[in-house]
Amino acid sequence: MAEPESTVINTNVKQKDPSTALVIAVTTRAIFNLEEEHKLYLEKGKEEYTRHQQANQDKPLPPGTAFAFIQAVQYVNKKILESNPAERELFDILVLSNNSPESGVRIINSAKHYGLEISKFCFVSDEDSTQYLKSHGVKLFLSADRTDVCNALQRGVSAALVFQQEVQAPSTPLRVVFDGDAVLFSDETDQIFQEQGLEGAVQYERAMEAIPIGEGPLKAFAMQLGKMRKKFGQEKSSIRTYLVTARSGRDMGIRAIKTLREWGLPIDEAFFMDGAPKGPILAQIQPHIFFDDGLHNIQGAQNVGVPSAWVPSCC
Ligand SMILES: [Mg+2]
Repeated sequence: MAEPESTVINTNVKQKDPSTALVIAVTTRAIFNLEEEHKLYLEKGKEEYTRHQQANQDKPLPPGTAFAFIQAVQYVNKKILESNPAERELFDILVLSNNSPESGVRIINSAKHYGLEISKFCFVSDEDSTQYLKSHGVKLFLSADRTDVCNALQRGVSAALVFQQEVQAPSTPLRVVFDGDAVLFSDETDQIFQEQGLEGAVQYERAMEAIPIGEGPLKAFAMQLGKMRKKFGQEKSSIRTYLVTARSGRDMGIRAIKTLREWGLPIDEAFFMDGAPKGPILAQIQPHIFFDDGLHNIQGAQNVGVPSAWVPSCC
């Protein structure tokens, strides 16, 4: 089989060290609002889409759902370099796109327009672009395409799906909220809950209290983010991490906290919601991104303008 075509445009003069960087890959539809263009692509085809993108190549695209997160990540890099200009452990942003290089000019121009520091633009013609994630050392992949996200998760890369939504632009520092079960943690307790109800799940947690919960699909990214978090002190950190879980603190909180401790994963604040809606607390935290496997929680977050990323558990 012929090698799939791909074009990688490296725009970063000051090369980040790929072995130490925390590489985040976003697709063009995650970082920019390309809904109209995507509709054109689906209805009129690739040629018409390319013609439109070329004709509008100097017109910046509006920000998409992951835009604020990427901007905040860039802010963290700036803060790290301010305290240590020689630091090599930085965030590195890669844009992965199914656009052809010709239609990609508008993407590059848009990134430049907003001053986004994107080290690599990968314009790949292959159907499954997630095959490039491992070779680029990607630790988090955000896409607006469910198949992409499932492929990435199956390749063992932390990944989540973003939907086009209204976003209230949050201020710095970078704030990231994780759900617990089926996101940071495995879905083992969720499964007991499905089969045996709340009483069964509480009993299970009590019996398993000394044993850490299994790893969830976002654990690998959370650990990398936790490593970045440790660069800052308790006060005035440029990164703040949160756990917002449906678990109750009284019956199911201890094992979650013990698991995080066992992993060495620092979390600044943890909210045990006991099944209450997450929207109100998310509206208060105002994160740049919120990861959850429950679509009702994603909807609740979207309703208050919180950028949300869905971690599908049924790929
Ligand atoms: Mg969950």
